[in-house]
Amino acid sequence: MRTDVHTHLTVTDAGSLLARLGREPFEADDLLRRMDAEGIDRSVVLPIDNPESDYVGIAHTIEVLRATRPHRDRLIPFCNVDPRAQHNSARGDLGVLLAAFQEAGARGVGEVTANIHLDDPRLENLFHHAGALGLPVLFHVAHQLGEVYGPADDLGLPRLERMLTACPETHFIGHAQTFWAEMSGDLRAEDRGIYPTGPVTPGRLHELLDRYPNLHADLSAGSGFNALNRDPEHGRQFLARFADKLLLGTDRFAPSHPLPPILGFLGEARLPAAKLAAIENDNLERLLGPLP
Ligand SMILES: [Zn+2]
Repeated sequence: MRTDVHTHLTVTDAGSLLARLGREPFEADDLLRRMDAEGIDRSVVLPIDNPESDYVGIAHTIEVLRATRPHRDRLIPFCNVDPRAQHNSARGDLGVLLAAFQEAGARGVGEVTANIHLDDPRLENLFHHAGALGLPVLFHVAHQLGEVYGPADDLGLPRLERMLTACPETHFIGHAQTFWAEMSGDLRAEDRGIYPTGPVTPGRLHELLDRYPNLHADLSAGSGFNALNRDPEHGRQFLARFADKLLLGTDRFAPSHPLPPILGFLGEARLPAAKLAAIENDNLERLLGPLP
């Protein structure tokens, strides 16, 4: 069984607007066809509701809940609540929104892309509410405030560590360049927003994944693949060592996306069957509870 923790839909409700903006529709049927072609049984569909990355057409929570409803055996909706919802307050009752989405089928929260500090009290509020409802949170880490999207952290991810400690009941799923750049201990501040290359010496990611049972890592997109492939031998060791913390993902949202290279890397990593199954499905199922 293979389950992808990271996909999006691009909906055509906007009609000719998508074509005008140069975006391709990618609806539930398109996603299912790609999954069939690539041997992926189920996909998590992540809505985006934060204004920093609100590309026209990427499905919001209500659209994701609606589009996945006829396919809940294969498409697993998450929901997204902006941490500034409920009056831009660190005490806003985000739980009332999350609980309503959960009742409608959402199994987690994300992709969180609000560009405020990762330990901003408003995000901590969201993390607490999500944890209280048993909803894991998938987030895109940014290297700065402004000109980017995603919760911002500093070199070494100290703000993430604060949240892992402050919200032990919440499961965190890290994603994007700034998260994966911490793969190597020689990371320079100026390389935090890019895809660093070259050999890896164990970095902060190793420490954090070792230390915090509530931290998990999403292998999707160029960032996850690059972190493994920049030093393939280390990448294979990393997969084996943290097989119980890693989640298969693609970050697909358009029909033109090529075959995700992470599938080939995993296939060639010579992992024991149980570890491969953990990464490809079982870790996610442990986080979300039994899936259809
Ligand atoms: Zn994404």
